[in-house]
Amino acid sequence: MKQNISLEEAQDTLLTNITLPEESKIPLIDALGKILSQDIVSQHNIPFFDRSPVDGYALLTSDTVNATPAQPVRVKVLEEIPAGYVATSKVIPGTTVKVMTGAPIPEGADVVVKYEEVERQGGFISVFEPLKFQENVVYAGEDVKIGEVVAKKGIVVSPALVGLLAGMGIASVPVYHPVKVGILSTGDELISIGEALRPGKIYDSNRYTLQARCLELGVEPVMLGTVMDRQDQVTDRIREGMKHANVFITTGGVSVGDYDVIQDALQELGAEILFWKVDIKPGSPILAAVKDGKLIIGLSGNPVAALLTFDLLVVPMLKKMMGREKYLYSKIQGTMRDGFKKSSEKRRFLRARLLMENGNTLVKLTGIQNNSALKSMMECNIFVDVPAGSGPLNPGDVVSAHVMGNIDYIDA
Ligand code: AMP
Ligand code: MG
Repeated sequence: MKQNISLEEAQDTLLTNITLPEESKIPLIDALGKILSQDIVSQHNIPFFDRSPVDGYALLTSDTVNATPAQPVRVKVLEEIPAGYVATSKVIPGTTVKVMTGAPIPEGADVVVKYEEVERQGGFISVFEPLKFQENVVYAGEDVKIGEVVAKKGIVVSPALVGLLAGMGIASVPVYHPVKVGILSTGDELISIGEALRPGKIYDSNRYTLQARCLELGVEPVMLGTVMDRQDQVTDRIREGMKHANVFITTGGVSVGDYDVIQDALQELGAEILFWKVDIKPGSPILAAVKDGKLIIGLSGNPVAALLTFDLLVVPMLKKMMGREKYLYSKIQGTMRDGFKKSSEKRRFLRARLLMENGNTLVKLTGIQNNSALKSMMECNIFVDVPAGSGPLNPGDVVSAHVMGNIDYIDA
């Protein structure tokens, strides 16, 4: 077992121990938000046929070369084609076919002139100027070409992709099965919301934080409940959970105290311990183990540490397990708006939010930075990465940060 390893080494260890879920084809609309498990190759040109993007008349450019307002060219209207129908006549010199938006371009025609640009008299139209070759003609395959990869394996199926696939006539889509994440809280002090508060007890909030985060991420939480700081209870609950989940997250009981039973419980279960303790603050006591190809990650019970280390370490791993093409967080730089008084002997992550002020990227700390102040996670969308051995941070210092959510810059 490795101990006191860097965040990067811990991350690599988790990423190399994952297994991808199974895949299957599911109905198109059910694929929304899921991850594509195969590239989608178009069997068609989109549009399927050359079509008119306007209401107008399809004709030959060569007929209009000498057209002027004083001496317009007259051509004969052969028929009228709404969207959804095909012309029966071929356009030859001196003739035209009236087409509606979305109608196929009749054979022979190479241009469409808009209604409002011609004059109709009985069975004829007058054209007043030379037309440009291929104007108002949308060619087959302009949007998507036959054989083109329209969506790559590993992307999240979006509403636009659902529409694109529907436009190609695709009824079922290959996606990965959802990753099932077993969530277990441990601690004698924990009671459930809804129960009356008793002296010395606290509500188990971690199970909800992690359940919510899993739902937001698009993985399926499997709630294994709350157990006491008892080795046998932890072992039993995880053993039972093995039937229902592919990866496990526990909170609490991973430090060095007398009641920190997770490590012994995992050993009793026959799991191989991969590492214990990561050199970061907060949340350094992290334990990772693997049993029958399934990862078990024990996080500190501290509400902030649990969520921060879940985001920092577990989310990239879950994204990779989901089959997502991009699973690592991005890094950005910004200027500290506020100071941070403490020195950082260990590498430290601060909860912060990225702001825009007069075009500059500012980093605003989102509240007090102690381990249990979960409120500071609410506005947080970046974790400032303060290197080990840093002194206090001053306003104006440039820092680097890990991007944790979607960055929707807000004004200072
Ligand atoms: P531990 O990691 O077990 O040493 O717990 C660290 C701190 O987090 C203690 O103050 C615990 O009471 C608290 N804590 C542990 N588990 C939870 C939980 N599920 N929800 C809220 N707080 C917790
Ligand atoms: Mg505890």
